[in-house]
Amino acid sequence: MAEIEKRNMKSNGVYIGLGANLAREGSTPAQTLEAAANELHKLAGPVVARSSFWTSPAWPDPIDPAYTNSVIELDTDLSPERLLNIMQGIENVFGRVREKRWASRTVDLDIIDFRGLERSDERLDLPHPRAHERAFVLLPLAEIAPDWIDPVRGRHINDLVAALDAGDVAATSRLEVAL
Ligand code: ATP
Ligand code: MG
Ligand code: MG
Repeated sequence: MAEIEKRNMKSNGVYIGLGANLAREGSTPAQTLEAAANELHKLAGPVVARSSFWTSPAWPDPIDPAYTNSVIELDTDLSPERLLNIMQGIENVFGRVREKRWASRTVDLDIIDFRGLERSDERLDLPHPRAHERAFVLLPLAEIAPDWIDPVRGRHINDLVAALDAGDVAATSRLEVAL
């Protein structure tokens, strides 16, 4: 019983956050996220859940174009490192240019949570160190993982959503898009 409870505290899913605020080659940010999810499906394993698309002001500079974000769950046999390699390859193919940190981009793919794994090195921090305080991650994640528990803090996603800045939540809304 204790063992089951302990396991239930940890997430079993692999969750990827997708974001974009620049159009590319005639594709809107939402279309790019859709295409990136399809590439992950082909290269990393089945996409078993997809959130809605959400929109939120650019951070840190709200002058930049607004972001479109979503979160997907992936059923993958890959290691976290191999998955990150594939994600970065997709970012490159989809025109991601690495300038200064948090600059506008055609696509950003982040591992939010890899089955509750906790690790931190130069290339990969798991779970994503800023996911728990981001409305644009938690609101879509809550759609596909309503019982998600933050592996580090042990806090339920509803609790994390309730703790978000009210202004950030109000500025983050579900997007009706025709792809
Ligand atoms: P943020 O991490 O705040 O969302 P960002 O996504 O814009 O910022 P990037 O420029 O996409 O940051 O990535 C910078 C580096 O972060 C990457 O080279 C990658 O090695 C590293 N990284 C560490 N942890 C993760 C993770 N969980 N998912 C994706 N990249 C990560
Ligand atoms: Mg990011
Ligand atoms: Mg990133």
